[in-house]
Amino acid sequence: MRGIKLLKEPPAETRVFPDPTPEGDEVVVRVEAAGLCGTDLHNLYEKPWEAPCIPGHEGAGTVVAVDRPQQAKVGDHVFMMAFSSCGRCEMCRAGYFAYCKDKRRTMHGFTRNGFQAEYVRIAENQLRPLPEFMSFEQGATTMDPIGATYHALKRMNTEAAHTVGVFGLGPMGLGATAIASQMGCRVIGVEPVPYRRNLAKQLGAGEVVDPAAGNVVEQIRELTNGEGLDRALECSGKAEVLTAALDLAKPLAHVAFIAENNEATVQPSAHFNRKEVSLSGSTVFPMGEYAEICQLFADGLPTEQFITHRFSLEQADEAYQTFAGRQTGKVLFVPGSSG
Ligand SMILES: [Zn+2]
Ligand SMILES: [Zn+2]
Repeated sequence: MRGIKLLKEPPAETRVFPDPTPEGDEVVVRVEAAGLCGTDLHNLYEKPWEAPCIPGHEGAGTVVAVDRPQQAKVGDHVFMMAFSSCGRCEMCRAGYFAYCKDKRRTMHGFTRNGFQAEYVRIAENQLRPLPEFMSFEQGATTMDPIGATYHALKRMNTEAAHTVGVFGLGPMGLGATAIASQMGCRVIGVEPVPYRRNLAKQLGAGEVVDPAAGNVVEQIRELTNGEGLDRALECSGKAEVLTAALDLAKPLAHVAFIAENNEATVQPSAHFNRKEVSLSGSTVFPMGEYAEICQLFADGLPTEQFITHRFSLEQADEAYQTFAGRQTGKVLFVPGSSG
C-alpha cells in the first residue's frame, strides 16, 4: 500500500509499505480521509529524529477486513480514535483513551502507523460508526479541530451569551471559531495571517484582530467596551499570547490551552486571586462526547468552508509545504483521489 513518510528535507514523500492484515481484535480500515495537523508539522521541523512510523492521527474510513467475528463488519463507515484503549482502567472506562494507564498504550501517527496511508490496522474498540449524515471528510476533522475544541468549550461551560476570544486561527482555532459561533457566542479571533482572519469571518467570527495592527489587549478591550472576554482559547502556542488572554479575562472567566506549548507566564495575584479565572487544557474529546460532536455536523457546522485543501497521497510533499505556508484552513489527504 501507499503511505506517507515524513523526512527532514524534503518534508515528505510517498512510499510503498506492506499491506496490513487483520489480527485478533484489530481490523483493517481503508482510509477515505485523513487530516494533516500542526503536530505533524512539529514532527517535521522541530524534532531531530526521523518520524518512526506513518503519520496521521485524524481519520475516517471503511472497514475492509476483519479477523475473528466481531462487531465491526466489512463495509462499515467509521471514525478512528488515534489513542488505543485497554478498556479496563478508570480512564478508559470514562472514555478518556488519551490517558489510558496501560504501559502498552499506543497512538496512531506517533508510536504506530497512522492514517496518512491507503490502509491502517486498528483495534476495533477505537472505532465509532460514522453517522449517515456525516462525510468521511467530516469524520477526519472530528478528533482534533472539532472534537478537542468542542471538549474545551464544553469544559468551560460556554454559553451563547459569552464573548469568546480565539487566539491563533490555524485549524484548531478555526474549529473553535465555527463551534462557538454555532453556539451563538460572539467570537473575536486573533491571527496575523490575513487568509486565516478572512476564513474565521466566514466561519462566524464577529470580529478579527491583527496583532500587527497594534497591542492585542488594547484592541480587544476597545471592541468589548473595556469589558474583556468571558472565555478564551489559546490556539497559537505562544507564551505571551496566554498572558494576553489572561489579562483580557473578565472576573470568573475561563481560559483554555489548545496549542502545544511548554512555557507560559502567569501572574497568580492579578490573574487568579483577584479575578478567579479558571485555566484548563484539552487534548482530545472523551468517547462519551462523540454523539454530541457528530450532532454539530448535523446542525450545520460549515465544513465546506473549513476544509480548504485536499491532496492525494502522491502529493505528500506539496500537501505539507502548503499547510506549512499557513494559507489554509483544514488540509486533508483523500487517499482514493487521483490528485
Ligand atoms: Zn491533530
Ligand atoms: Zn486504559
